Amino acid sequence: MATNSPLLIGITGGIGSGKSTVAKVFEILGIPVYYADDRAKWLMSNNPELKSEISKAFGSQSYLNGILNRSYLAETVFSDPEKVIKINSIVHPVVALDFKEWAAVQKSPYVLKEAALIFETEGHKHLDAVINVSSPLRIRISRILMRDPHRSEEQINHIINQQMPDEAKNELADFVIKNVDNKLLIPQILKIHEQLKARGN
Ligand code: ATP
Repeated sequence: MATNSPLLIGITGGIGSGKSTVAKVFEILGIPVYYADDRAKWLMSNNPELKSEISKAFGSQSYLNGILNRSYLAETVFSDPEKVIKINSIVHPVVALDFKEWAAVQKSPYVLKEAALIFETEGHKHLDAVINVSSPLRIRISRILMRDPHRSEEQINHIINQQMPDEAKNELADFVIKNVDNKLLIPQILKIHEQLKARGN
């Protein structure tokens, strides 16, 4: 890594843990944040090589008039675990490269990559450190039910069961932020921010 490159820090957490909320606080502190899941969706719609690879793998119905056919992919790809592995193997390398290129031009001691899956995809091996945002399950479920009224508790539990348990992520993480109602977030964020700034400078 070039000496002027920022440290690459992952920020992850299970569904509803509050990782996007925490990432926004780091943004307010001036830290550039790469929202990997949003960017992956954008690349799937806009990167010509990626579009062509997805069409080759899952059929021309993957795009309608050049626009990503989300309902087709949801029905035929995201419901089949083998196809999920396949689409991830196509999309992840493109996102990884895009993140590297983005990070290389940021002027900051460190940058954050916010993603639901980091440890699950071994993404931590390409990062300097990872922050896990951790919250008890019952709080996460109630937050998601409030945020996404279209989702049932059963659907949320299904997603949770597909993700690595929070305890395992806490073990692997370099920093853990406890996002519990009675625990103040900002002091925890400021403490990590100071440490990362010192390491990155
Ligand atoms: P996802 O994996 O679904 O993207 P996430 O981990 O990014 O979820 P957020 O979207 O940040 O989670 O938070 C989930 C919901 O909980 C949001 O509506 C957010 O405003 C709320 N929330 C997060 N943290 C807190 C908190 N400490 N107090 C109150 N509400 C919170």
